Amino acid sequence: MDKQTSVVEEPTVADLPEISEIPEFQKLADVVVPEPLKEEVNESELEHRDFDDSEFWRKIPAFRDVEYEQFIDHKFQLINSVTSPEKLTGIVGELATPEFVEDMKAGLRAAPMNVRVSPYLISRIDWDNPYDDPIRRQFIPVASRRLPDHPQLTLDSLHEQDDSPTPGLVHRYPDKVLFLPLDVCPVYCRFCTRSYAIGGDTNQVEKVGYKYSPERWKKAFAYIASRPEIEDVVVSGGDAWNLAPMHLKEILSTLLAIPHIRRIRLATKGPAVMPMKIHSDRKWVRALIKWVDHGRKLGKEVCLHTHFNSPNEISLITHDAMQELFRHGVKVRNQSVLIRGVNDSPETMQLLVKRLSYMNVQPYYVYQHDMVKGVEELRTRVGKTVELERHVRGATAGFNTPIFVNDVPGGGGKRDVHSYDYYNETTGVSVYRSPNVDEEKAYLYYDPIDQLPEEGRERWARESEHQAIIDEALKGAGLTDLEPAR
Ligand SMILES: *Cc1c(COP(=O)(O)O)cnc(C)c1O
Ligand code: SF4
Repeated sequence: MDKQTSVVEEPTVADLPEISEIPEFQKLADVVVPEPLKEEVNESELEHRDFDDSEFWRKIPAFRDVEYEQFIDHKFQLINSVTSPEKLTGIVGELATPEFVEDMKAGLRAAPMNVRVSPYLISRIDWDNPYDDPIRRQFIPVASRRLPDHPQLTLDSLHEQDDSPTPGLVHRYPDKVLFLPLDVCPVYCRFCTRSYAIGGDTNQVEKVGYKYSPERWKKAFAYIASRPEIEDVVVSGGDAWNLAPMHLKEILSTLLAIPHIRRIRLATKGPAVMPMKIHSDRKWVRALIKWVDHGRKLGKEVCLHTHFNSPNEISLITHDAMQELFRHGVKVRNQSVLIRGVNDSPETMQLLVKRLSYMNVQPYYVYQHDMVKGVEELRTRVGKTVELERHVRGATAGFNTPIFVNDVPGGGGKRDVHSYDYYNETTGVSVYRSPNVDEEKAYLYYDPIDQLPEEGRERWARESEHQAIIDEALKGAGLTDLEPAR
């Protein structure tokens, strides 16, 4: 592959030499290797090192003649993003059956999020079986798979708007804030917690909307500067990938100049959906590296937090982009959402964690899926998350082992998923406390009803039972003196 136009120049995994060809190891040729205590590894245990180096996009009719140089151009990715069923048909042609396209149209009419999928991700979908594909499931709604929302579900279940001193700034925890500079992302995730704000109005939701606005940004900066306890700023979705380099500079230079700010994270879905920005948007990458370096000189951390959910999102293009950031000292951590049919098996979660670690992206969090409208078929039970965690911990380095958290409804913030005071597998209700956010409240999470045993499904089917289910949970937790958060 000719990589002339790429910023990324170092050898990739595919080019690594055999160990027997390396002089340092030739010196060891005579050493008798100690008897192994472990069984020989099989290929599948090393699967995480297989980064797809094929020209996989050429399977897509519209990209059949697209060369590597063109495919890694981020502008090509932007222009050719799928934003409607018609655009999907124009790109994948007969790979999507007419039934699928109709199903998608009906799915979109009922969805709280618009559709936006990059050519990169479109090319990583298995079009022979789009219904079960982990990438399709995350980004393209289909009506036929839809389940009714849980009766306890609300828009903005995390109550971010209640904790906002000024629009687009969330101050929930004592020493950290969340700043939402934009309302656009390089992709729209069906399960987005911020479907109350992100991605433009839909049939279902008229959005709050956080456009670029110098006045709004200044208010957020002034608030942060006025609160000496704040050390940590998360710049989150809308997405830093969509910030112009001068706006990236505006945010980072202002925040870094505030003496009490020590850590800034740029949260972005970018590496998972459009890694080619690192290859081809030199201005943006230079701005990022420059401000990361500037922060380091001040003794402050500027890093990226990204959002890979499926090992299928990762190819050699991704690997090379992440290694490029690593070489320039840009720390990247990952926050996944646990999604049914995407990463909810031990094998897939392990593969994801190990593949991320291999390219120096540190797995940080796996989130219990938030209670978001219109995506009930993507949620899993808390019990399943606890079981998955058991299979992941111990598989690799502890610092690359994600913490499984539940960002509890009602604005309690992130809780270790295991830390519930009570969990009823039949009704699917778990109860959490969050003393650093509000000592007076109990926070309840509700498993998806279709995953409950029959008895639980029947109880939720009777509206008259709902209050009793909740009272039971609070009593079981011994927390009847606390107010349940809504
Ligand atoms: C997630 C989040 C943060 C950052 O939390 P960490 O646990 O430090 O990653 C900050 N503010 C809000 C409102 C959040 O939701
Ligand atoms: S990238 Fe993040 S903010 Fe944007 S739609 Fe996806 S989950 Fe929401």
